[in-house]
Amino acid sequence: MTKKEKITVSNNGDHWICICNNNTMNSGFDTCDKNGEYIEPLADIWTGLYACLDCGRVINQETHEVVTRIKDLSSFGITVQS
Ligand SMILES: [Zn+2]
Repeated sequence: MTKKEKITVSNNGDHWICICNNNTMNSGFDTCDKNGEYIEPLADIWTGLYACLDCGRVINQETHEVVTRIKDLSSFGITVQS
């Protein structure tokens, strides 16, 4: 079993630093579903996942673990170069 990647969190959870070094003060993070598609953070559809807007890692806001990584950030209006 591989160890899960985890982002760094400081300032009582308000400041997130991704493994790629993107953080809350830079490109930041946005709410998404488990497939990495942007969704509004509405209680009935959103499960607490955020996507890093630089590298596409999808992060669980409770555990701060990286659950998956997406390549296509187009649903956030972002084009990523591979
Ligand atoms: Zn990242």
